[in-house]
Amino acid sequence: MPIRSMKQLIQDADSQNKAVGAFNVGNMEMLLGVVTAASELNTPVILQIAQSRLLHSPLYLMGPMMISAARNAPVDIAVQLDHGQTEETVREALSLGFSSIMFDGSGYEYSKNVRLTSRIAAMARDAGASVEGELGAIGRSGEKELKMICTDPDLAQEFVQKTGVDALAVAIGNAHGHYAADPKLQYNVLERIHNKVSIPLVLHGGTGIRPEDFRKCIRHGVRKINIATADFDALTRGAQHYFADREDYNYFGLNEEMVHEVYGTVKKHILIFNNQISLEQIFKNQEEKA
Ligand SMILES: [Zn+2]
Repeated sequence: MPIRSMKQLIQDADSQNKAVGAFNVGNMEMLLGVVTAASELNTPVILQIAQSRLLHSPLYLMGPMMISAARNAPVDIAVQLDHGQTEETVREALSLGFSSIMFDGSGYEYSKNVRLTSRIAAMARDAGASVEGELGAIGRSGEKELKMICTDPDLAQEFVQKTGVDALAVAIGNAHGHYAADPKLQYNVLERIHNKVSIPLVLHGGTGIRPEDFRKCIRHGVRKINIATADFDALTRGAQHYFADREDYNYFGLNEEMVHEVYGTVKKHILIFNNQISLEQIFKNQEEKA
């Protein structure tokens, strides 16, 4: 299929009251797991890689593989740079054919975030790609007390108007990595942002958020949900399972086990985000698997 833009996929999701899963990948097995699950469920997804992961998974290798996976898949797929930090990497991703750029200017003060995000948004639009910006500060992995700054709903409205982004990542008590304690999402903040902002909202830090919370976020305007840590955990769990029960091992068996675990994790999330089956059924499936 031709590569789709993130904006098109989230607009489609909006018309169906669901969210698109955006799954981070770092190698071929992860890519195969995501594409296999999306194809089986006939559900569009976003394949993404974060700039901070490029040390382990270089963009010149991962980028072409992600593009090729999207082109050869039987479902619509967008390919996005996640948490882009520099113009150089954004330019590289766009030249490889990425259809979306997430620029993370949330570490800067507001006016600089606006200025940098606007510049990246113009670059992306020139290349025919869509853009996601971030306002507020999403928590970091393992923090006991989240050093998170909730997105200001009034500023969010202004930020979207000034930058022209197609989607907005919000900070509402969500965090990257593993949550040190059960996440308590601030639905009052999400509701206020949703009322002020006309574009779709993005939830980062999806790993560890309960299915019922995902569904509630979707009811409050979230149209893209990022899953990264759970994908990487699934990959390494696949390897752990494979090596646990055998003494004679080979790469091909390891490959299959890793792909299978990532596939299972992605499939579970897609079913939640699609609103297709009841939460009771999802929990029942999990229990049966356990
Ligand atoms: Zn993120």
